[in-house]
Amino acid sequence: MTSQGGLGTTSVQVALRIKPLTTDDMEKLPSRFQRQVITTSYTPGQVIVENEKRPIFQYDYVFGPEASQEDVYNKSVTNLLGKFLEGYNVTILAYGQTSSGKTYTMGTSDEDSLSTESQGIIPRTMSALFETIKSDQFKTSKFTIKVSFVEIHNEDLIDLLGQGEEEERPPVTIREDSKGNIYWTGLQEVKVNSVEDVINNLAKGSENRQVGFTDMNAKSSRSHAIFSVTMIQKKYVPYGPMGGPPATPPPDTSRNVDFRSPSPKVNSNYGGYDDGEWETITSKFHFVDLAGSERLKRTSASGDRAKEGISINSGLLALGNVISALGDPNKARHMTHIPYRDSKLTRLLQDSLGGNAQTLMIACVSPAEYNISETISTLKYANRAR
Ligand code: ADP
Ligand code: MG
Repeated sequence: MTSQGGLGTTSVQVALRIKPLTTDDMEKLPSRFQRQVITTSYTPGQVIVENEKRPIFQYDYVFGPEASQEDVYNKSVTNLLGKFLEGYNVTILAYGQTSSGKTYTMGTSDEDSLSTESQGIIPRTMSALFETIKSDQFKTSKFTIKVSFVEIHNEDLIDLLGQGEEEERPPVTIREDSKGNIYWTGLQEVKVNSVEDVINNLAKGSENRQVGFTDMNAKSSRSHAIFSVTMIQKKYVPYGPMGGPPATPPPDTSRNVDFRSPSPKVNSNYGGYDDGEWETITSKFHFVDLAGSERLKRTSASGDRAKEGISINSGLLALGNVISALGDPNKARHMTHIPYRDSKLTRLLQDSLGGNAQTLMIACVSPAEYNISETISTLKYANRAR
């Protein structure tokens, strides 16, 4: 069942997605652990966890095991694409333990699924974006779309689309301008013209992504991967007579005149003034596939792995603190208390979380009893964001 709870007024929304048990899961898990202990409720946005003292959790959206990729996209992402086109920064984050469906949901490594049902959020959003900007509604606009793909591993930033040897590249740094806009240096930004271009860059970046093995029998992602889309939209805004406020275009009496023509022309009727001007809107869309949220003790990590675990957790910890501060109107009013600077992850996303930005956190969980303690910890983490 897919359900939608009361949409809050904050700019942070939380979705919970329960994945189905895959055949792979069933082969790995002893059958007594396969029992499903989390179910969707008839109350929109609610889930119920068996044998818990406080069994009910509430989110903006809940997607049960049978929810399709299309359901997730249609219900929780399309409205954000609209905001992005209006000029807002948007961030979607997938949170959860390893194997809970983060990469599947986000589509971070959708290398070969151009038009399949299993396409994740990134290719769906980008197909819709390219379709929308080609429509009549945007006939008077020009778009430049660039993508970048960065990984945060042990608080180091790695350019997944970087050219040449990693050692010879300039370091990636995060800067803030006087208006509070975050930008980075040393990061490859690739211009894209189609969803195929996007998929190619996803494929390239995913190949470069750091993965490690743990004894949870999974190739576990130990780093955050951030796929970012920057859109520069140039919109032609016509002036009224003599450069006054925009006038309603005169009635189209001539078949040869197209008043929606995107090329600005000098109109001699208005004393030689241009009959409009180009307005530039820049917005960013971040798709974040977070590192696995599992606790260290479960993966019996040691040495380098333990160090990785600690810094992964510091990013997730800072993110949790930022998001819970944003969700609390009292805290959010005192913007200085929002701890963006506590990790590279939150610093990179600073101008795209909270404020005017739109944020969707998708918490991913397994339905199986075997994973119950991690599931509860994800449910609680996601709850802080509301
Ligand atoms: P994570 O990125 O959180 O480690 P993955 O996205 O790689 O997890 O998912 C683990 C496995 O489960 C993958 O084989 C993936 O294809 C599968 N999977 C995850 N979510 C779903 C889903 N909703 N429907 C079908 N298969 C899924
Ligand atoms: Mg993954």
